[in-house]
Amino acid sequence: MTDVQTLPAGITAIDTRTAGMTKVTAGYLLDAPRPALVECGPALSVSHVLDALRGMGMDGGDLAYLVLSHIHLDHAGGAGDVAAAFPHATVVVSELGARHLVDPQRLNESSRQVYGDLMDSVYGDCTPIDARRVRGVADGEQLDLGGGRRLDLLHTPGHAKHHIAAYDSDSGALFVGDSVGVKMPGMITIRPATPPPDFDLVLAHRTLDRYRALEPSVVYLAHYGAVDPPQDALAEADSRLRAWAETAEAAYAEHSELDHVTETLAARFADEVEPDSADPDAERRLALLSGHRSNAMGFVRYFALRAEGRTAT
Ligand SMILES: [Zn+2]
Repeated sequence: MTDVQTLPAGITAIDTRTAGMTKVTAGYLLDAPRPALVECGPALSVSHVLDALRGMGMDGGDLAYLVLSHIHLDHAGGAGDVAAAFPHATVVVSELGARHLVDPQRLNESSRQVYGDLMDSVYGDCTPIDARRVRGVADGEQLDLGGGRRLDLLHTPGHAKHHIAAYDSDSGALFVGDSVGVKMPGMITIRPATPPPDFDLVLAHRTLDRYRALEPSVVYLAHYGAVDPPQDALAEADSRLRAWAETAEAAYAEHSELDHVTETLAARFADEVEPDSADPDAERRLALLSGHRSNAMGFVRYFALRAEGRTAT
């Protein structure tokens, strides 16, 4: 199966085929007596994930955990469908996001405001999950996957206040969702992902510091795949975030209008995509997930809240 990639340490990457493209959002299956899937992608493409799991021989009773780094719909939108297909699976998410999976009406409505027509063509609505099957976790909680394997769950805010990472301490694999940024095919460097409504610059840097202290053996981005070597990638993510924030802040100081910040970021960071990329989807992936406008919106909101003393830090 082309959508499934075998990785070291009993980890399998599943291409969720988000927006019908390859290598936009990855799910990661951890093999163990109680297997865990990290991320499932949006509802509209979740059938690819379910097909891949079945193709790997998993039937309804097999999946023990679905771990969601956060509840943005490109990660968690299909969670209700995965829960329905695997009735023994517990959905694991930050305690700050759990209620939105039980009653996703607000999540779907606010997502529609951000995504517009893409809700109907790319994402789809998140369906409700029985509260008894959603486990909201705090920093430091662990999942016992059996056979001596466990996942440490870390509260890693910045990209979103309810963001968590999952650390497979045995192998050293660290699943970071969106908290390190995105690096998809055709990209030269990691690009920060700083969307509204609750991107926080200080927390995002702190989260990167925490990852560096863990000294992971490999870092898996949701968008998309491993970044190597991990310490270099984390240092790169930190310096790119600094560069984006400095550019956004200088633009915001000139004119606080969103258009101006967006255009400044677009001009300054136009070189992040390989000009001769043979992949026709290189620009499309970025426009979908971590576009200049979405990142500018997150920065502008953060700077405005900070000026009012309303940020978390
Ligand atoms: Zn996100």
